[in-house]
Amino acid sequence: MPNATELLQADARGLARAAAIWRAGGLVALPTETVYGLGADARDDRAVARIFEAKGRPRFNPLIVHVESAARARDHVEWPEAAERVARAFWPGPLTLVLPLRAGAGLSPLVTAGLPTLAVRVPAHPVARALLAEFGGPLAAPSANPSGRISPTRAAHVMEGLGGRIEAVVDGGACGVGVESTILGLADGPVLLRPGGVPVEALEAALGAPVAARDEAGALSAPGQMRSHYAPAARVRLGATERRAGEALLGFGAVAGDLSLSETGDLVEAAANLFHHLHALDATGTEVIAVAPIPERGLGRAINDRLRRAAAERG
Ligand code: AMP
Ligand code: MG
Repeated sequence: MPNATELLQADARGLARAAAIWRAGGLVALPTETVYGLGADARDDRAVARIFEAKGRPRFNPLIVHVESAARARDHVEWPEAAERVARAFWPGPLTLVLPLRAGAGLSPLVTAGLPTLAVRVPAHPVARALLAEFGGPLAAPSANPSGRISPTRAAHVMEGLGGRIEAVVDGGACGVGVESTILGLADGPVLLRPGGVPVEALEAALGAPVAARDEAGALSAPGQMRSHYAPAARVRLGATERRAGEALLGFGAVAGDLSLSETGDLVEAAANLFHHLHALDATGTEVIAVAPIPERGLGRAINDRLRRAAAERG
């Protein structure tokens, strides 16, 4: 973890430095037309885990992935006609689309919190666009504030909230909108998942179809209620310090297992490995995955939240 957070200018040197930090797995906050985002390489498990750590988020909720163009979005998601229509009308801009994740999309499962859908958008802010072009890959970027605090609209707000916890902030002045992006679900029929910068009437005009409100659309469209890709078929036993007959053991720290979330007890490493290891042990066909105790602090809270839900999600 860095001690001093670099304040980068939005010039050629600052852009190159930000991209180099992302390539090395670091965190850089960037201006968008909505609020400042906390960016990390969306393909890098450890970098994405560090977003949750830096923000102090108690849950692995899914993150919006920012890409350079609709063509790059299509690398990661399925692309129905409705997506083409709204993307043509509103990208780049404050519209996020939730679409089915493509098999082999190459993103960290932490980005989608194990969901089979991905939230993706092309930001319009010139500095965000320049940074995406320079980096050349997808950036996971929730708002650049500690969990539960007001969203940042200036580089100084990011410094106040996350200074010392992230590698750098790119200063792009004050954000224009200050409102979050509209989130449109297109995995089934069109559903407004969050109101924001693009009004729903404008979406309906572009689609030539009505957009359902979230509660009309039923429980399955609501994030957090949708069944995860990674809900194991096996039963999950928590707080295990040893393997019982017939169990696969997922270790942590001093508790060695068939696989370990982190042999050194590093919670960032554990978060980065969580979905991959659950999936791998489940694929062995074991009836029970026993999981070593994880400390209830820092990222451990988000890991335990996910494990408790994996234990409850079976069937
Ligand atoms: P933020 O990045 O803080 O602006 O918020 C991300 C928002 O996008 C949250 O409300 C998430 O629940 C929502 N979101 C992200 N990914 C998905 C997804 N795959 N399905 C539904 N909603 C999503
Ligand atoms: Mg936020």
